[in-house]
Amino acid sequence: MDDSLISSAYSQALEVIASVEPRIAAATRQELTDQRGSLKLIASENYASPAVLLTMGTWFSDKYAEGTVGHRFYAGCQNVDTVESLAAEHARELFGAPYAYVQPHSGIDANLVAFWSILANRVETPYLAKMQAKNVNELTEADWETLRHEFGNQRLLGMSLDAGGHLTHGFRPNISGKMFHQQQYGTDPGTGLLDYDAVAAKAREFKPLVLVAGYSAYPRRVNFAKMREIADEVGAVLMVDMAHFAGLVAGKVFTGEEDPVPFAHITTTTTHKSLRGPRGGMVLAQEEFAADVDRGCPMVLGGPLSHVMAAKAVAFAEARQPSFQTYAQKVADNAKSLAEGFLTRGANLVTGGTDNHIVLLDVSSYGLTGRQAESALLDAGVVTNRNSVPADPNGAWYTSGVRLGTPALTTRGFGHDEFDKVAELIVDVLEHTEAGTTKAGGPSKASYVLGDGVADRVTSQSAEMLDKHPLYPGLVLS
Ligand SMILES: *Cc1c(COP(=O)(O)O)cnc(C)c1O
Repeated sequence: MDDSLISSAYSQALEVIASVEPRIAAATRQELTDQRGSLKLIASENYASPAVLLTMGTWFSDKYAEGTVGHRFYAGCQNVDTVESLAAEHARELFGAPYAYVQPHSGIDANLVAFWSILANRVETPYLAKMQAKNVNELTEADWETLRHEFGNQRLLGMSLDAGGHLTHGFRPNISGKMFHQQQYGTDPGTGLLDYDAVAAKAREFKPLVLVAGYSAYPRRVNFAKMREIADEVGAVLMVDMAHFAGLVAGKVFTGEEDPVPFAHITTTTTHKSLRGPRGGMVLAQEEFAADVDRGCPMVLGGPLSHVMAAKAVAFAEARQPSFQTYAQKVADNAKSLAEGFLTRGANLVTGGTDNHIVLLDVSSYGLTGRQAESALLDAGVVTNRNSVPADPNGAWYTSGVRLGTPALTTRGFGHDEFDKVAELIVDVLEHTEAGTTKAGGPSKASYVLGDGVADRVTSQSAEMLDKHPLYPGLVLS
């Protein structure tokens, strides 16, 4: 791709935007400068290609397209049909999935579609047959009451938030923890690893309708064949949320029993994390769930974002290139380099390391909460996010951990030496940060004091690496 094309495309677009609201054009320019100038270690973020980003800025945004390909509630959807069909086809090929639904606007929306389709598919009631036969008018008020009661009395077993699961996997305050009777499985208190026997025991006792596997902060691989065995034994539907690691699946780093798609009844994902596409979600499913998933919009979701579906198609086409497999392997290799960098400098890692794209650093040995560590690191230009560790004494707000991921900086071209250096810089900040005090003089979980000169020292060393591996090389805004 010709760099000057991309440079002029963005420069001109920003001029058009500035002619209406210059402050938005300025903020957009500043965001590029900021992203270029910081060490982005947020495990759920990445940098999509200019082709993916440009695809989102078109008139597909103006089109309503509720329904599915060929069955729309709006007229004139022939080009949206082309886009959605292509995105779904690329997704099926990329993941070897029988069926792909590319409409969800985000990962959480994809999970809501999955929950809805599992309920619709598996909750046996005579009323449901009538609903699906479109004879809803035959349902009496009493029928609806029974239906609500049955839908609302199902069970879900998911990974707990502090073990690395996601809010939508049955966390009480989330809608998933309110619409389902929920129980959670954790990790082994000794090793921090998933204990499949403990999950199986819980499943046998609880007998969930839905067993959710997948994570946002677990630094290890999962054996999905084992999870499916557990689901089958108790008659549960296995739903895998691969939002975080879809790029490692697409890039063939997770294969065999570590690839969830052949084992899960339903697989959900985001498209913007390790998969490096536009901000969005997707549901992959076995054939038996396809018709129910297809009702996602308008039963659960608002009208599809056709411009984003187009960008998903472009991103999936990129992910089908051999270069994406090289990228995904580097993401995993770099996480190992980062983890080793910490371990050789005496830091504590949850599970003692990583074999995916995540490193979960326990910062309590530095006398800090996750919140203090996150803020001090940000002062030094290192962008991370605080995260609970298993059985976290500081709860989900202050936390005791910092979650780090390699997808974004790997996209910039960082390799082993750079990630080792990143660990050195982070340890430098944490060793020179002290917990602060509250106004009343007691210990604070939020305030902190960063040692003199540390921010400058770290910032200048990261600048060297960032300059060597520019973000969107060749993109120059006029
Ligand atoms: C990020 C994430 C989500 C939510 O994705 P959004 O696009 O922010 O809605 C859901 N599940 C898991 C496991 C995630 O990591």
